[in-house]
This record gives sequence, structure tokens and C-alpha cells, in this order.
Amino acid sequence: MTKPASPATPEEHKVSNFLRQIIEADLDKGTYASRLWAGSPGDAAHHAKGQPDTANIRTRFPPEPNGYLHVGHAKSICINFGLAQEYGGVCHLRFDDTNPEKEDTEYVNAIIDAVKWLGFSWSQPGNDAPYQASDYFDFMYRAAEHLIEAGHAYVDEQSPEEMRNNRGDFGKPGVNSPFRSRSPAENLSRFREMRDGKLDDGAAVLRAKIDMASPNINMRDPAIYRIRRATHHHTGDKWCIYPMYTFAHPIEDALEQITHSICTLEFEDQRPFYDWLMERLCEGGLLAAPSPKQYEFARLNLTYVITSKRKLAQLVNEGKVSGWDDPRMPTIVGLRRRGYTPESLRLFADRIGVTKSDSWIDYSTLEGCLREDLELKAHRAMAVLDPIKLVLTNWDEAFGAGHLEPCTLPALPHPPEGQPEPAARQFTIGKEVWIERDDFADVPPKGYKRLSPPQSNPDGSTSAGALVRLKGGYVVECTGFAKDAQGVITEVHAKVFPETKSGTAGSDSVKAKGVITWVGVADGVKAEVRLYDRLFSDPQPDAGGKDFLEALNPHSLKVVQAIVEPSLRKALPDDKFQFERLGYFVADRMDHSATHLVFNQAVGLKDNWGK
Ligand code: ATP
Ligand code: MG
Repeated sequence: MTKPASPATPEEHKVSNFLRQIIEADLDKGTYASRLWAGSPGDAAHHAKGQPDTANIRTRFPPEPNGYLHVGHAKSICINFGLAQEYGGVCHLRFDDTNPEKEDTEYVNAIIDAVKWLGFSWSQPGNDAPYQASDYFDFMYRAAEHLIEAGHAYVDEQSPEEMRNNRGDFGKPGVNSPFRSRSPAENLSRFREMRDGKLDDGAAVLRAKIDMASPNINMRDPAIYRIRRATHHHTGDKWCIYPMYTFAHPIEDALEQITHSICTLEFEDQRPFYDWLMERLCEGGLLAAPSPKQYEFARLNLTYVITSKRKLAQLVNEGKVSGWDDPRMPTIVGLRRRGYTPESLRLFADRIGVTKSDSWIDYSTLEGCLREDLELKAHRAMAVLDPIKLVLTNWDEAFGAGHLEPCTLPALPHPPEGQPEPAARQFTIGKEVWIERDDFADVPPKGYKRLSPPQSNPDGSTSAGALVRLKGGYVVECTGFAKDAQGVITEVHAKVFPETKSGTAGSDSVKAKGVITWVGVADGVKAEVRLYDRLFSDPQPDAGGKDFLEALNPHSLKVVQAIVEPSLRKALPDDKFQFERLGYFVADRMDHSATHLVFNQAVGLKDNWGK
């Protein structure tokens, strides 16, 4: 049974859905109870030598290694591995590498990393390697010859155009190919000529012989093998014919003794062929019965996001983003670099659930899951993203010139029960501190609770400057500010109340209107902070054939030089923090180091999506 590497998502109560109902019904009826498993994938004879399968169900996640996985794949991974885990089954990781042209080992490794990172495992005793569909080419070839011999397949040598024209359409039945009545013997020798490289690419295809008048166009003699002289990343030049996806996929499932083959809705029309093929190969004794069954769920559509490997590749190749792991990318590596945790993505998959009809999920749902996860875990820190200096003009008088007063705040306000409380943060306050530029207003808007200087009233009197607490430090009263020749405010001045230090008896002796965050000039540390906005400004950037490149948001990345509290010197790449009042940030896993601090904005504190 597969086990998550880290604790399950906080949502322990699993809501039922149609997939759980199907699996539970199968378990009740014992649909798959008689299955044998020989310890590795194989045909009927192979499994006949095996033991009763200890896995109650077998599911699989079958990516094509032609790009990096994205958040949609994360949904599929969580569904397939999650169901196997829940029902005492096994989920296989299988590379669907039957298409020789687009695949690469770089992607294979990235997919392995992504599945592991999400907290799932496909290993079984004595069996650690993921499966690869290309290992099944020999069997697929044998299955094709079997179909030919049984009169269920033929070599068609119509031109691609003739084939297209003769396929008919929704209202019009197809027309039989003139090659359809070839004898099995003739088909077999022609198919072997295809295999042996005697025919040119595209000169012939092997087609299943089903029904050219079927209302389901996928049943109108679908192509199952084509000629393609291409070097395969795994089988090299051994083959010049390759199986079509619709033929390969059911066979891959069956060889692996998959019980529930879960895919996205666009494959619904392929299901009759899936079943047809399984029946033919079972009746021929090639595959073990009972056969796997295909079930479809709605793919994930996320607003402001593109989930197509091809289009994501285009963003990378055209330099629109810095790479597959750009923190604005919806790839798993991008989300990870952005600060997403495996727990947050699993929570997301749980929360959106599985349905049978397509819909769009609001991006804020994904963000909410990260926020929920980090709220409990991320250590707090203070950072100033747009610094302006606040000078405490009576500091020297109150504390002595050059004095730095040690301050402390908890790393977590509510440490999880049963876990040791993390060490408190230490920092100092002195005569000068950095505050956010917008925590000061020379003319305060109504209701402003941050720093503002004394104001002269219409009656000629003057009201005092605002009283504000520097979080974890002292209450200060704003007394004025300085401007440069251009009228830009360069400095804010305030008076400190020395008896009001946080955590002391006198802390309440002066009432502050608000609390602001700050970082000491003496011990603040410079950091590069990367602020993100959505990558696209259109909620459905590629819907209806739109050019998604036109919807790119030119302001999706803003880099600022910030000052952060000294505890962040110890941050390691991938460490997540809540910068108080600002949001959640992660130390960049590529560029952050002890000498060059780099933080990526992960998600805001509140949902301000669309505001
Ligand atoms: P793309 O079009 O981005 O290349 P794909 O569907 O071709 O995606 P595969 O590598 O073939 O990608 O997909 C592996 C599995 O992930 C499949 O079972 C597929 O159904 C599932 N999957 C892909 N995209 C999504 C999505 N947006 N939501 C849910 N599942 C998805
Ligand atoms: Mg695909």
C-alpha cells in the first residue's frame, strides 16, 4: 500500500464522490477479487503464475514525459494515489512514452521528483522503478498481430486524405476502405513489412476493423499502429512503427493489472474502443480478465492559469518566464518555488473534489489552501518592503547615545499543540528604524491609524502627532518629518516613550492608536524581495482559441530591495515565513543564500484577488 511521505491533509473527513462510490461498489461485489499479480506487469500467462493480488485496487498516473507537470496533473496525482492509499491499493507511476518524438529524460526525472515531492510513492516490495509504456512495445506488437490473425485489424494504404474523407462525420457514416477486405495472411505480411521498414512513413497504418458506420467516430476503424522513423529515448531505433495512444493505453493498463483507469473527460468517447480492445485481447487469451475499466472526471481549469504543457513550453521557450520553475508558472516546480507546500496542493485537490462536468475553479481557492497551511506553520518575521527611516529624536536622551535595546517576539503566535515551541526571534531597537513608506502620511486620511505629524486645526489650535506602537518595541509619537528639495519625504521623526516597551508593566501607560511593523537600522538585513501578480490578466487566457500571449500581464513581477529582521539571516532556501502584515514569503530555492537573501511572495494574508 502506498503511504504519504508526510502527514495527510488536515481534511481527514473524505467526502464521497462518484469514483469512491464505484470503487466501494467493486470492493463490495469483489469485482477484482480473483485477480492475480505476478509482481510485475505482464500478459495473461505471466499473471497466471502470480499470487492473489494483495492490492485491493490498482490505479495509475500515466504522464507523457514531454514537459513538466502542472497543477492539473497535481489533481490527477492526488486522485489516483489518494484513492489507492484510501482503499488499500497501489498506484503505479507509468511513463506513457509511446510517442517517440517529444520525450526527454529531463522530463522523466522532473516527473519523478514532482510525484515524490507531493508526498506519494509507487514503490512496492522489490519494485521501485516507475513503469514505462515503451517496455510493452513487444507485447503491443504481438497484440496487433493477434488482432490481424483474428480478423480484427487490417493494413490500410489509403492516403491520409482519403482516410479523412472516408471517415464521415457526425451526420454521415464512414465509407469502407478498399483495403478493408484483405485477408489476415495478407495483412500480416504487410504489417511485418511495415515493421521491417519496407514502407515509407505515412504510407500505411494498421487499423482496427470495427464499424465504419458507428455513431461514435472513434469506433470507425481507428488507426492503432503507424510508421514513424524516429529514435525513441528508451528503445532507440529498434522500432519504426509505433502504437497509437488509444491502442497503447488500454494495453498498458491491462498489463499492469490496473482496476480503475481514471482519466479526464476528453477520453470519454474513447471508452467504447477501450472496452472493445480489452474484450478482443481477453477472448484471445492474451490478457488476464477481469479487464480494467476507464472512468472519466473533469479536468482542472483554474482561472488566470494555463494548463497545457505545450503552451507552458511556449512561455518558457519564448522567454516570457525565466523557466519551467518560474514562480509565476502553474507547474509543480513553479508552485514549489513560489512557496506552495505539498500539503497545500493536496488540500486543494481534496477541496475541489472530483466531478463529471467541466467547470472553472477560482484561483483564490488555490491560494486559500496555501494560506491555510502556512498560517499554522510559517514563522513570523518583520520586513519593510518600501523603507523610509524613522528617527526617534529623544532616544539618546532617554537611553544614552548608541544604545540598542534587545526585543523579542514569538516565531509562532500559536505553536501547534504537542510540538516544541520554536525559539523566539531576537532583534534590537535603536535611535533609527525602518518603516514602510505608506505607514506615514503627512496629511492623514480619515481613520488613519498609523504615523502622522501634528496637524493644525481650522480654529488655529494644533493636534498632537499620532501615537503608534512599533510592534514588539515602544509606543512613539510622531513629531514631524523631513523633505528633500523635490518635496519627497526622506525621514519621519518621532518621540519614544521609554517606559512603554512591549511585555513590560508600563507597556500600556501610553495608548497607541495603531501598531506598525519595522526593522532596526542597526541590525536590519538587506533582502531582494520578488512580488508577483497573476501571469495573465484574462481569467481564461486560452479559452476559445484566444492567443494567450496577448493576455500576459506585463506587471506580473516586481523586484524590491527590502530590509528584513536579523532572524531571517538564518533562513534556508524553501523556508516559508509570514512577513507580518505583508503576507507569506519563501526563501527562493534557487537564488537565496546567507549572503544574498531572496524572498518570493507566496500569497497575501487575505484574499484580495480581483481587488
Ligand atoms: P497536456 O495537455 O498539458 O500535455 P496531458 O493531458 O497531455 O496534458 P499527460 O501527461 O498525458 O498530460 O497527463 C497525465 C495525466 O494527467 C492524464 O491522466 C491526464 O488526464 C491528467 N491531466 C492532465 N491535465 C489535467 C488537468 N488539467 N486536470 C486534471 N488532470 C489532468
Ligand atoms: Mg497527453
